[in-house]
Amino acid sequence: MVVAPARARRPGAGRPQVVEEDGDREGCPFDEGRESATPPETFAVGPPGRPPDTPGWRVRVVPNKFPAFGPWPREGDRTGGLFARKAAVGRQEVVVHSPRHVRTIADLGSKELELVAEAWQARAAAAREAGFPYVHALVNEGAGAGASLMHSHSQLVWLEHEPPLVAQEREATAGGCLLCRVLAEEREQRIRVVEEREGLILLCPFAGRQPYELLAAPLECETDPFTSRMLAEAMALAAEGIRRIRVAEGAVALNLWLHAGGHWHIEVLPRLGVLAGIELGAGYFVNTLAPESAAGVLRES
Ligand SMILES: [Zn+2]
Ligand SMILES: [Zn+2]
Ligand SMILES: [Zn+2]
Repeated sequence: MVVAPARARRPGAGRPQVVEEDGDREGCPFDEGRESATPPETFAVGPPGRPPDTPGWRVRVVPNKFPAFGPWPREGDRTGGLFARKAAVGRQEVVVHSPRHVRTIADLGSKELELVAEAWQARAAAAREAGFPYVHALVNEGAGAGASLMHSHSQLVWLEHEPPLVAQEREATAGGCLLCRVLAEEREQRIRVVEEREGLILLCPFAGRQPYELLAAPLECETDPFTSRMLAEAMALAAEGIRRIRVAEGAVALNLWLHAGGHWHIEVLPRLGVLAGIELGAGYFVNTLAPESAAGVLRES
């Protein structure tokens, strides 16, 4: 990561924002009462005896209508660079976070986030049962981060193998957990820590690729978020971080994802910069805001 604050002031350094208009509500297939606009649900939290695909739910899981990953094997997986052609076999589900037309997980209450965590864990168990040991859970917010619908939702990608980035992170911990070491150092220095609560920590990682990049993790070394009782609270902490980013910078487009296998954690990558040739081609991320400064802003927000 390269910190280059001057680049934030260069001409045309625009900020891709989440477009939030009342218009995106019209015909929103994720609103309560529009259950027939999605494929039939695979899971929902709702009152006992509620028939599937009817109102009354609080969290609802449906197959993705436009999956990137098959139900069928695909040649030429689009991740991992030019020479990666590992076919990914899986399924892709959408978790609708609320019957209300909420546009960011920052606006979900802690009870709502608990239900989202419950849905992630239930569907990860179903995926494992079906022979997909790795579930990649992610949230895209805003068109600038790849979201096509503004109603808050997450995606669960069922995979036969852990994705390459996760394998890389896990292999880096072969000689003892790297994240445990990093968290211990960060807790000592405190300069990049945003908040600590309930055995979890939220910080701006020292190698942050974009302004306000966040990492939320349990302090204890746990490897499976899908059986952890800390998952809901970790999501609440990440959502709190996003709330603070929105106070500081407005409705920023962002990606969030969960990494399991090694010391599990949630990463939040706000899309305040553009990934261009240096980032994509050389793997050097030019960050216009030092993580220490970002953490300072977020602690105050
Ligand atoms: Zn909606
Ligand atoms: Zn660890
Ligand atoms: Zn990670």
